[in-house]
Amino acid sequence: DVAEVSGVPPWVADHLQEEGIESLYPPQAEAVEAGVADGDSLVASIPTASGKTLIAQLAMLSAVERGGKALYIVPLRALASEKREEFSAFEAHGVSIGVSTGNYDESGEWLSGKDIIVATSEKVDSLVRNGAPWVNELDCVVSDEVHLVNDPNRGPTLEVTLAKLRRINPSLQVVALSATVGNAEVMAEWLDAALVDSAWRPIELKTGVQYGQALHFGDGSQRELRVGSNEKPTEAIVRDTLAEGGSTLVFVNSRRNAEGAAKRLANTSRDGLDDEERERLAELAEEIRGVSDTETSEDLANCVEEGAAFHHAGCSSQHRSIVEDAFRDRLIKVVCATPTLAAGVNTPSRRVVVRDWRRYSGEAGGMQPLSVLEVHQMMGRAGRPGRDPYGEALLLANSHDELDELLDRYVWADPEPVESKLAREPSMRTHLLATVASGFADSREALLEFLDQTLYATQYRHGSDGGDNLERIVETTLEYLERNGFVDRGETIEATNLGHTVSRLYLDPMSAAEIIDGLEAGGTPTAMGLYHLVSRTPDMYELYLRSGDREEYTMLAYERESTFLGEMPSEFEEGRFDDWLSALKTARMLEDWASEIDESEIAERYGVGPGDIRGKVDTAEWLLGAAESLASELGLDSVRAIAEARTRVKHGVREELIDLAGVRGVGRKRARRLHDAGIETRAELREAEKAVVLAALRGREKTAENVLEAAGHRDPDMDGIEPDATAVPDRD
Ligand code: ADP
Repeated sequence: DVAEVSGVPPWVADHLQEEGIESLYPPQAEAVEAGVADGDSLVASIPTASGKTLIAQLAMLSAVERGGKALYIVPLRALASEKREEFSAFEAHGVSIGVSTGNYDESGEWLSGKDIIVATSEKVDSLVRNGAPWVNELDCVVSDEVHLVNDPNRGPTLEVTLAKLRRINPSLQVVALSATVGNAEVMAEWLDAALVDSAWRPIELKTGVQYGQALHFGDGSQRELRVGSNEKPTEAIVRDTLAEGGSTLVFVNSRRNAEGAAKRLANTSRDGLDDEERERLAELAEEIRGVSDTETSEDLANCVEEGAAFHHAGCSSQHRSIVEDAFRDRLIKVVCATPTLAAGVNTPSRRVVVRDWRRYSGEAGGMQPLSVLEVHQMMGRAGRPGRDPYGEALLLANSHDELDELLDRYVWADPEPVESKLAREPSMRTHLLATVASGFADSREALLEFLDQTLYATQYRHGSDGGDNLERIVETTLEYLERNGFVDRGETIEATNLGHTVSRLYLDPMSAAEIIDGLEAGGTPTAMGLYHLVSRTPDMYELYLRSGDREEYTMLAYERESTFLGEMPSEFEEGRFDDWLSALKTARMLEDWASEIDESEIAERYGVGPGDIRGKVDTAEWLLGAAESLASELGLDSVRAIAEARTRVKHGVREELIDLAGVRGVGRKRARRLHDAGIETRAELREAEKAVVLAALRGREKTAENVLEAAGHRDPDMDGIEPDATAVPDRD
């Protein structure tokens, strides 16, 4: 019974009962027995939708009850606001909640007054580096989706951040929530925590594979599924589920596929709607159109009118929550989603279809199968407790061989063990420098002692040859950092001024070294030279060279040779030369963007989606901001040129529009129209007649008024040369 949990504030039991939670689920009861409400550390490895959040809440609320402060680390920015909303009910009971997700530098001092703070691991890492005072006051830290320590890009940050927080407060309570993984006991050992490792689910889950006219379940049972001759399997499943009065969640591998599948499935969901539902969906579609007047918004509204929707990280958060709510209310019958929805958002559904089990990976150069862990997490979204008799999750097979493969690979398979990726060079470089720069260690021994608190040390410190892996990696990395002027090694190890800057900027030290080399090559850099420079750093995911690209970009490389900062590698150094060309392709995309080429044309020319363009542009803006800081730190006179290149890429405009495009509400297209109408600067805009502005913008009166009003404000962009120091791009 929830009333029997001691340690939490007295109002919690009533509050939970209001939410329909009368008694604890078995894994939750185990967690309480293990002391999660008494300040003890815990690793909870339990299936999706089995009530992990409540375990976290009990831990945090009991910490607050003892007069302490708690931090909830989310894996994605999109989830921070979800959690905030979930926890906001506590505010009525005097528990204050703060969210720190901003991209920009903030010491986060205002968070000192909050009882519960929600943040991403990157944000926490950056706040620790910048010395946020409240970090020292934490009593309880929850790490959601902690199995992501396995992720090569984001895992190491989470691992090191937890190690730092435990270092700051050795008696810190750590509650790590994980999907079911192959080695939860290793995580518990790492965090000195008790372990709840359970396969219990609130509702039965049947998993299987659709092939031909049948569903083949993992337990050996089969059921008929009639697939019409001109029908796709997913359509047949959605139709079949609708006939039972249920809804379907379809997972696909890209944003574009999510939109495409939703449009097609709308033809199926349409047939399952009654008049009242049609009416409510029409209202919902209007609400969606009201959020923004983009093409995505219109497409989504059109699908929703028919009872279907798509959901991916490229949708606005308002769109996403409208879709989630209507799906939970069973008004929307089918949602096509990228795996972001599997991670954390609570949207159970009668059936789940994992349509794509492979995903494109630039790094691996092709389609790669998803991990068992990921597929199981998606499948776990099937079945709504109290509403469905059981949940059903299906993969789709095209052949008998594929049927066997999918049963083996996913249905009968156990999830992989998580493995620390901290030893990857970029992670080691970045985190060693940060550890030294923020004063956590000032000698090799202290570094080793600190790193001994990571999962990497738990798993791999001692190699099979008896050698100390950690010692070896630390030594090579320190040598690298010293050689590039980021640390000084004398009696003690200390970060140089440059090293401090690099750490504060959140750069991979190798990116900083590459940028410094390029800038010191001399001369006033061109925008293209700078775009190429930042595109060849390890912090930029370059565009992939397709067949035929090599020739085209080799020619371009010779044509533009004089614009490059630093020396072009020879064609005979194949690896390096190809990297140079990939960076050139990326740089030219940025140049196109900064030359006002239409987004749709860029998308076609480079074979990328609007989200990819945005991602590259954001990363370039961040790296150019970092380059500005490095240039001023080193006293180079390229600062102004870098600021200009950054502003151009930020707004996607040519030089002459920089001033105008910085006005809020103007943007690249409107800036060009104003310029064509003879309004060339912000000052001229401020003085301009409303009628002229209105005619130039060909828009609504309100738009012209907003723009005119905004022109009266100061432009923060080109004002100073000091960039936003910790503008870390969103890596969702
Ligand atoms: P996950 O393990 O994926 O984080 P959640 O914590 O989101 O799962 O829980 C899934 C759903 O189960 C939520 O809607 C939650 O309110 C509900 N729930 C959690 N614990 C209980 C309980 N003890 N009794 C009834 N419902 C519960």
